Amino acid sequence: MALFKKKNYIRINPNRDAVPTKKGKPEVPDNLWAKCPNCKHMLYTKDIGLEKVCPHCSYNFRISAWERIAITIDEKSFEEWDDDVVTSDPLAFPGYQDKITKTQEQTGLKEAVLTGRATIKGQPAAIGIMDSHFIMGSMGTVVGEKLTRLFEKALAKGLPVVIFTASGGARMQEGIFSLMQMAKISAAVKRHSDAGLFYLTVLTDPTTGGVTASFAMEGDIILAEPQSMIGFAGRRVIEQTIKQELPEDFQKAEFLLAHGFVDQIVPRTQLRDRIWQLLRLHSLERWGADA
Ligand SMILES: [Zn+2]
Repeated sequence: MALFKKKNYIRINPNRDAVPTKKGKPEVPDNLWAKCPNCKHMLYTKDIGLEKVCPHCSYNFRISAWERIAITIDEKSFEEWDDDVVTSDPLAFPGYQDKITKTQEQTGLKEAVLTGRATIKGQPAAIGIMDSHFIMGSMGTVVGEKLTRLFEKALAKGLPVVIFTASGGARMQEGIFSLMQMAKISAAVKRHSDAGLFYLTVLTDPTTGGVTASFAMEGDIILAEPQSMIGFAGRRVIEQTIKQELPEDFQKAEFLLAHGFVDQIVPRTQLRDRIWQLLRLHSLERWGADA
């Protein structure tokens, strides 16, 4: 029995994650474990990798815009555009400004979309990445303005556009000003398209509401991550309206692929290669280059 009281027998390698404290109790660092929301397995965070994919069921964890940049574009190639655009709180909505400030502190983002220029395996593109951690990636005046400018700058520079969508829809706190962003961005998409430039969308979990009803579905090619929730109105709203029960998976990427709304579902681990391939194919076609 005395053996178990001799703490010197317990040796923990300090290079491992469980580091012994002075009191002899191992201190478990934060974020060491994550629970898969899909298969409910407890996962060692190192096992889900930078791409954050569950090794048991291939569930794609929701990732931040900065994490997306890290796994998608060439290192240090991101040049951010329009990070100084902020909301004017057009409706003077109670508590909205505080919510923005708090979310900025929590996420390290200024708004729900990051835009800029980057290269993907050497292919240049204008890039927009939405982040569902910022007020559910909702689209207000700032998201609308930044994405519109993204298309305008891409048009001026002759660049293709790649957008990763993740959104709960329009931002309630900006009312009708949010809704008009759908038309504003769509007009910019059209001008970019009329110049013969390529636009690629990657739908990620979740892509819903006004974002689905506008620029998310306007890409020349539309990719989606596996099992992503993609839809316009919520399930209950539709069921109550049409008085019918909907199929279990009807707003999943796989259902949309089967019904022709999505061109291809690409696992997150293969996305960077697929985007590069599409950008390169288009640049060859456009310029007739041999590179
Ligand atoms: Zn899983």
